[in-house]
Amino acid sequence: MSRPSHLPDTLPGHPMITRQGATLMIESLPASELASRFGTPLYVYSRGAIELAARAYADAVRDRPVALRYALKANSNLAVLQLLARHGWGFDVVSGGELARVLEAGADAGGVVFSGVGKTDAEIAAALRAGVQCLNVESTSELQRIDRVAGELGIPAPVSLRINPDVDPRTHPYISTGLRSSKFGIAQAQARQAYAQCARLSNLRVAGIDVHIGSQITELEPYLDALDRVLDLVHDIESDGIRLHHLDLGGGLGIRYADENPPTPAQWVDALCERLQARGQGHRQILLEPGRSVVGNAGVLLCEVITLKSTLDRHFAVVDAAMNDLMRPALYEAWQRIEPAQSRDGSHALTYDVVGPVCESGDWLGRERQLDLREGDVLAILSAGAYGMAMASNYNTRPRAAEVLVDGERAQLIGERETLQDLLRREHKLQL
Ligand SMILES: *Cc1c(COP(=O)(O)O)cnc(C)c1O
Repeated sequence: MSRPSHLPDTLPGHPMITRQGATLMIESLPASELASRFGTPLYVYSRGAIELAARAYADAVRDRPVALRYALKANSNLAVLQLLARHGWGFDVVSGGELARVLEAGADAGGVVFSGVGKTDAEIAAALRAGVQCLNVESTSELQRIDRVAGELGIPAPVSLRINPDVDPRTHPYISTGLRSSKFGIAQAQARQAYAQCARLSNLRVAGIDVHIGSQITELEPYLDALDRVLDLVHDIESDGIRLHHLDLGGGLGIRYADENPPTPAQWVDALCERLQARGQGHRQILLEPGRSVVGNAGVLLCEVITLKSTLDRHFAVVDAAMNDLMRPALYEAWQRIEPAQSRDGSHALTYDVVGPVCESGDWLGRERQLDLREGDVLAILSAGAYGMAMASNYNTRPRAAEVLVDGERAQLIGERETLQDLLRREHKLQL
């Protein structure tokens, strides 16, 4: 049955992005209007979509002892952090810079976990001075380093060990982090010894245990396998007389880019809690660190078609966004949906590779897309709210895009477009 034409079409997986006739809408604003008002390339985030995701997690948790720690490497804009802080979320940071952002956003350091495979003395000291909930530690040498810094400061360090459970999350190899061959975490077989070492280091306080197996995970089994292995370890570690206050089960829940059907936050949380219950561990304090699934489908990248070009082999739409603005296609060969801001009648549709102007063959945003385009048209690259702007660079001396948050009919600039002056200011001309 076809929909009545006066009702907007929701794009699957994108609750606040609709097509009303020919016009692509982000909440109540046409994408084309945002592009002309703020310029392109432009990241646009739907406040409603972020809040829907935040609420889906809160509803999933209900009254259970599960605390949410947004992994801000997915999207670390201050306004986004403020939104999540207002919803009561804590944060998962992976650098001193991210910690500074969280504090700048006014969040409570007591809800911050500090992850990452190589924390410097300065980062450890900043975390301890701020009073973070926990440092997630990835090696025994890091344990010694944290113990030393904590001793120098006279601030005991709360620590969890990140365990590498050797499970395959069946996602892209670059975003699998819980395999034996990965640089992340401490092998399960060495974990018990590492905890014993923690107990001997006088400036450390054992807080919990941590695991994070990867990203864009679309099945529950890898999570449950990892949880089972963590629970086996918890049993061993506690029988050595070391008490673990929380189990941090990481993030990684996938989103729908194309036709994936990832579990919902409720299905994920329910499955974890049921497994905990089944193993007599239902009382455990759990932390979760979702990133992508909170913001991924709340954002789009708007760009304008600069040139349409046909070679002997194919048709190219060269747009004013590039791999420096959105790296996922170049880095992971990721597929993201591309929609015209104003659709045409299709009579001039061709199969285009949508590419940026950067001097790299890897600089493409979408391949073999059926589009009816003219130069000057605006395109929206969907699912760009996570690992989009956060990974942007200045390659080819391209200033980074502006960022806008849409709330109903209102739009607020939450990230200024970088200027060429911004880029040149930090460099010094030759003086020798
Ligand atoms: C990246 C990361 C996350 C978040 O992963 P998503 O796939 O964005 O949910 C959580 N925890 C740690 C330790 C991470 O490195």
